[in-house]
Amino acid sequence: MIPFLDLGAAYRELKTEIDAAIHRVIDSGWYILGPEVDAFEAEWATYCDAKHSVGLANGLDALVLALRSLDVGPGDEVIVPSNTYIATWLAVSTVGAKPIPVEPDPDTHNIDTTLIAPAITRRTKVILPVHLYGQPADMDPILDLARKHGIAVVEDAAQAHGARYKGKRIGAHSDVVCWSFYPGKNLGALGDGGAITTNRADLADRIRVLRNYGSRVKYVNEVQGVNSRLDPIQAAVLRVKLRHLDNWTERRRTIADHYNSALQDTGLKLTNVPIWADPVWHLYVVRSPNRDVLQKHLMDNDVGTLIHYPIPPHMQKAYSELQLDPEALPVARDLAKEVLSLPIGPQLLPEDVTHVINAIRDLT
Ligand SMILES: *Cc1c(COP(=O)(O)O)cnc(C)c1O
Repeated sequence: MIPFLDLGAAYRELKTEIDAAIHRVIDSGWYILGPEVDAFEAEWATYCDAKHSVGLANGLDALVLALRSLDVGPGDEVIVPSNTYIATWLAVSTVGAKPIPVEPDPDTHNIDTTLIAPAITRRTKVILPVHLYGQPADMDPILDLARKHGIAVVEDAAQAHGARYKGKRIGAHSDVVCWSFYPGKNLGALGDGGAITTNRADLADRIRVLRNYGSRVKYVNEVQGVNSRLDPIQAAVLRVKLRHLDNWTERRRTIADHYNSALQDTGLKLTNVPIWADPVWHLYVVRSPNRDVLQKHLMDNDVGTLIHYPIPPHMQKAYSELQLDPEALPVARDLAKEVLSLPIGPQLLPEDVTHVINAIRDLT
């Protein structure tokens, strides 16, 4: 069986280094924040070409605290993609604001920037693009609109570790950039983890205080914060993995290039990569009107696939309160019926990629 993603193989490749890092933290006797988290934050900020990074408990908290640092709350609107993982929307509703969905460009899967301006109202506080599947969204038109209307931009970069937009790493194009280190992400911990990066010292400082009970000095609480601290054991693991990230991204690229050339003429719709985008292939997504047949055929040929995502947020029961008509967001609705994510990851073997390609070509 070719698994969709083999996290055990990723660990085994770095086992010696990771085990040593974990034991260094256990031996240190320091288990909350401290030197390991400080060191990871500095290394992650440098990697992302950003001035500041704050380590957090997970990617959803990164989004929530980014919005709180910008004083987003009840009565405010935040523009989000209609096709994203539900966490993007949950961050907005968690702070009491309203998610305003904008449809994607179906060729790139990223937010269609030409549809953002009509969605802006007096209540709009933030535009929240997602770099979906590891491919950067078109940031310049988004930043221009935000500047013109005096609103902020927060990026959901949970799938985009190391991706570049017009040659510059994702990490500080906008006000705050939000990261997840969930195990399956391109930079993944051995449990939950998250962070923000930013060039804005004021926002980094607010988020740093918010993550630790609203406290700068122990037992002195400036604001009603939360407990959302990056675990030092996870920080130590992430420091090891960060040293291998570019190499692992290169391996993803090789696999994506192989898929791109071998699946050209199969009738499957492949993701369009704009000239200014340097994606990191968190997911390799194809589209087929016969997606379910294709998925079953691959399963019968021992190939594991997943669907990202089968139900768009506006059609989830969780958002029935918004009373959004499924017909109102047809692009997201239709993409959900057609997308299929093929196996991709640094540990996927070239012969396995060939097997996947042959299995697809058998059918198409
Ligand atoms: C994974 C993910 C998140 C949430 O990250 P967690 O660490 O699981 O909370 C948010 N947005 C997107 C697009 C994601 O893929």
